[in-house]
Amino acid sequence: MSQTPNILFAISDTGGGHRAGADAINAALAQLSGDSTERHIVDLLTSTRLPLVRDAPDLYGQLSTRWLPVFDLMFQVTDGPRRVDALTQFVYLTAHRNIVRVLEETRPNLVVSVHPLVNRLIGNARATYRLSFRFVTVVTDLVSLHSSWADPGAELCIVPTQEAYQLLLKRGFPASKLVRTGFPVHPKFAAYGGTRAEARAALGVDAEPFTVLLTSGGVGSGQLRDLVLMLDRSYPDVQLLVVTGKNAALRADLQALGLRSSIHIYGFVDNMEVLMAASDIIVTKAGPGTLMEALVMRRPVIVTEAVGMQERGNIDFVLNHELGAFCPTSDRIVPAIAELMDPATYAGTVARLADAVPRDGASQIAQIILDQLQLAPPARKRRLHFPSMAEIRRISGVRLHLPAARLRMRAIPLRLKPIRRLPRWRKRRSH
Ligand code: UDP
Repeated sequence: MSQTPNILFAISDTGGGHRAGADAINAALAQLSGDSTERHIVDLLTSTRLPLVRDAPDLYGQLSTRWLPVFDLMFQVTDGPRRVDALTQFVYLTAHRNIVRVLEETRPNLVVSVHPLVNRLIGNARATYRLSFRFVTVVTDLVSLHSSWADPGAELCIVPTQEAYQLLLKRGFPASKLVRTGFPVHPKFAAYGGTRAEARAALGVDAEPFTVLLTSGGVGSGQLRDLVLMLDRSYPDVQLLVVTGKNAALRADLQALGLRSSIHIYGFVDNMEVLMAASDIIVTKAGPGTLMEALVMRRPVIVTEAVGMQERGNIDFVLNHELGAFCPTSDRIVPAIAELMDPATYAGTVARLADAVPRDGASQIAQIILDQLQLAPPARKRRLHFPSMAEIRRISGVRLHLPAARLRMRAIPLRLKPIRRLPRWRKRRSH
């Protein structure tokens, strides 16, 4: 059997950020330790094969592009530790065989969860099947963390901001398990050494004009279409690079409009670092991955909207740390771009971004992972775990009225005959 340590990245392809985070750490591990570890990235929600749960990536795509209020409602309804426990318990009980199949196939020494909804599935599988591996979670949201991120069952929880660190402490997460690092941005962003002109040449776009990258996460959610049309009208000389991600309908729609030749429409790209390098500014929804990548590339960002409640705090993060502008309406985006087109303002803004965020977050996390691999997995728990009353209450959220039941029992008169002799419980052993 292979002695190479195995790392399983458990994610789900809801949006692009979770896979991008896992890819980033994976790449940093390859840089730090070459082939000394075996690594797998698995969409665990899809692997459950449970209807709806396995469709999480598509569902997220639909909700975030068309039914955002429903997505926000689901976020609120599920946001609470008891609710998370109850929901994941249900998914786990229904899908545990498929979850364990993934763990058996990959035989990890370490599981790194990069998605909040898979945390407890991993923890439950480890406990009930008495599996032996270490378990680390990597948070890929900046500020507005859903309760499911905090999983005390993990050995370590890695967070990308001080805001996230403080929030988890406030929620009672043990400080001994919390580590703050930079955000897991793929090393290719910091390593990109080409100039703007070289990046534009690589893309085959015009070298000269002021260039704006418009992107809206992995699924191309939000108001991207309106934004393109508005910038086309307001800035006919500006070159636009528009990334529609996995939103094929939006891409087809924009292409069908027959826009001018300096508006370039892309689908899902795997060279975001080149697109960012080719751009002067980046206009995006408040996706944490894109924001951090842009800041690592030292490009000014204009945030247009939060797609989902988990992104709302990212806007405050950008504003509080003076990392960019928030322009939710066209009457604010147009002057914000005009301001940045002024060379002096632009140079000042870029200079301020020089050390705005750590550029080596993925390497920091990769090093922690390598250190974790040196540690023994936690002792296996008993196979049969009978939940305590407190756990049952926590999971069900229902109050059990035991005192009342006891009172009723006491009210029944007990009429026992007097016992003359104690019964013989055991026969004496015959020698
Ligand atoms: N991304 C990409 N290609 C695309 C669109 C997006 O590689 O065509 C990446 C982007 O670089 C970032 C991630 O997908 O790493 C998007 O993450 P973010 O947190 O911004 O938004 P999400 O898609 O998770 O909502």
